Amino acid sequence: MKMTMIPNSNEARDIAYHFHAYTDARKHEATTPLIIDRAEGAYVYDSNGKRYLEGMAGLWSVAVGFGERRLVQAAARQMERLSFGHNFTSRTHMPAIDLAEKLVEIAPVPMSKVFFTNSGSEANDTAIKMIWYRSNALGQSQRKKLIARERAYHGVTLASGSLTAFSYNHESFDMPIANVLRTGSPHFWRDAEPGESEEDFASRRANELEKLILDEGPETIAAFFGEPVLGAGGVVVPPRTYWEKIQAVLRKYDILLVADEVVCGFGRTGNMFGSQTYDIKPDIMVLSKALSSSYLPISALLVNDKVYQPIADESHRIGTFGHGFTGGAHPVAAAVALENIAVIEDRDLVGNASRVGQYLRDGLQRFSDHPLVGEVRGVGLVAAVELFKQNFPNAAGLKNGELGAKANAYLAEEGVLLRAAVDALTICPPLTITVGDADFLIEKIGKVLNRVTAELAA
Ligand code: PLP
Repeated sequence: MKMTMIPNSNEARDIAYHFHAYTDARKHEATTPLIIDRAEGAYVYDSNGKRYLEGMAGLWSVAVGFGERRLVQAAARQMERLSFGHNFTSRTHMPAIDLAEKLVEIAPVPMSKVFFTNSGSEANDTAIKMIWYRSNALGQSQRKKLIARERAYHGVTLASGSLTAFSYNHESFDMPIANVLRTGSPHFWRDAEPGESEEDFASRRANELEKLILDEGPETIAAFFGEPVLGAGGVVVPPRTYWEKIQAVLRKYDILLVADEVVCGFGRTGNMFGSQTYDIKPDIMVLSKALSSSYLPISALLVNDKVYQPIADESHRIGTFGHGFTGGAHPVAAAVALENIAVIEDRDLVGNASRVGQYLRDGLQRFSDHPLVGEVRGVGLVAAVELFKQNFPNAAGLKNGELGAKANAYLAEEGVLLRAAVDALTICPPLTITVGDADFLIEKIGKVLNRVTAELAA
């Protein structure tokens, strides 16, 4: 939104002092920022009191909705009792013990230990460091290469950001780091060849993966990183048989599998974990976001014995596992995460995600033959509507992403906040939404599709 800004307004102060994440800084300087002031349930309110359905649950993360008293009270109780504690050397505290036990208990595959970090990026960096440490522990110092996919998002720090696939995460940052290999994304709609079935496409991706491994030397490949459903890459739902075939290749060459569940974890795909939805058997699971519904920053890695035992031996040889964060296992964040998981379980929010998600996706499917829509896709309560400009000669000059940005701006006017992955509108509301909220979302998306279509057709 471009408008004349009042000097010393909060918007002007934001531009004066606040260096924003993921922003074209010069464009931001010429834009009026949207100040979100308060929130309740699935809705947020801006500083003018305008209400929006938070269709992205913040950043894919506020699973239980905003203003949940149980989480507020859990934080206050813990802050009064023990506002900080760490887990360096042998110190510990009850929230870390309880949360670690709970995560191992609900993990979909046998996991051995939980390591706490503060963000998804830190967790993925930690996974990489653990994987390298383990290779060295096993006397396989050549086994360091990591495979990630096109359209992957694993964070922005030097190592996790190197796994992320997007050029703007690398360009001018002197990234990626060495030892990162790239393989194709599982996006059937975009990448399938004419006439190819989902199963054949999945086989092709698995064959490409195997060829990459053989070309590089299987003994040099340490791990494969994958989101069960690619999130920021545009909610790419894997085609039938994809994960089964990818996992068969990884097992054949004894390559570790890291499931980045930062978006999929805690109900998003209609099961507690995305790994359950696609029968993925990871060696490491990376959790964040909905782990605490983003009430506080916290992330965690679950590792199995195959990962943990060699690392434990190596730490004994060296004298320490020289890695950890001051705020890792923060007791207040851990207490909030525990209460958050209890809320998800007590209210059957995984079931709600599955039921309302199905209703929402059925409603969105009605747009699949809209002239502005290329594909409607999703699973559980995460979806995308891929805008497609090919039917509109007027849109030929639009750069990739401009259509998505335009539709998003119109949706905000209508009281719906989504995000765009290039030209795919991504939808990931709190797991608490009702059928009425879903109807509101569907109605507003329909209205905006028609508005943009009318503009392009004019
Ligand atoms: N992994 C996935 C799948 C993500 O979607 C994200 C963030 O969106 C991250 C990792 C990085 O998390 P953070 O932003 O907390 O560093």
